[in-house]
Amino acid sequence: MSGLAIVVNSIGDSVCRPAYLERLRTYLREREEELCPDSRSRIETNPMRVLDCKICKPVLGDAPAPIDHLCDGCRRHYDQVKETLRVLEVPYRDDPHLVRGLDYYTRTAFEYIATGLDAAQNAVGGGGRYDGLAETLGGHATPGVGLAMGLDRIVLASGGGETVGELDVYIVVAHRPLEDHALRLASELRDKGYRVDFDPEGRSVKAQFKIASRRGAARVLVVGEEWKRGAVTARDMGTGDQREIPIEEVSEWLS
Ligand SMILES: [Zn+2]
Ligand SMILES: [Zn+2]
Repeated sequence: MSGLAIVVNSIGDSVCRPAYLERLRTYLREREEELCPDSRSRIETNPMRVLDCKICKPVLGDAPAPIDHLCDGCRRHYDQVKETLRVLEVPYRDDPHLVRGLDYYTRTAFEYIATGLDAAQNAVGGGGRYDGLAETLGGHATPGVGLAMGLDRIVLASGGGETVGELDVYIVVAHRPLEDHALRLASELRDKGYRVDFDPEGRSVKAQFKIASRRGAARVLVVGEEWKRGAVTARDMGTGDQREIPIEEVSEWLS
């Protein structure tokens, strides 16, 4: 995927954030009537989220940013994160108003921005550090980092032009009660490196064969009544050759 930018910020930790949040609340209370209802309701509970509000953005230009109120530890950490990005030649920019809405985030917050998409909906992924999360859940103090990605936006940003590779095998479910077996067979074949799919939606056998050829599947395995005899029907979509083979010989037939 091209046209990606990384936006980073630091939102502090339990040392520096409480004092920062108080300062932010004071600022927001003074402008309460200029804020949207959602933001107004967040002043006490989750004031950092207000910085993230697209509606309120225009009146928050001079809001105190977490980055200007970091403790020494957070400041050093953030400098180090940015230095590492430079060493790795990863382009990034700072956004002092980039925040995460959940309390367990500490220090680094980041987003992947698709530069080709409309600014209101261009974040294709976002995440951050959450060193406090494991402890919150009752575990040992364990550093953590993670992100969430928006599949629909990634598809949009990639232009929808990249086609998914053709399938090696399509599994046709001819007898629906055997669907779980088809799922397990698909999973086993995927583990062996084959690109496999099957229809979990109960379409007719004819419709499933149509999907198989549309997806470019070179071969089809039919899971039907023959399963009870320990066999599947194997069809080579290129030659049209079709025969029943024992389930344990499927890998051999595919190779
Ligand atoms: Zn708002
Ligand atoms: Zn700090």
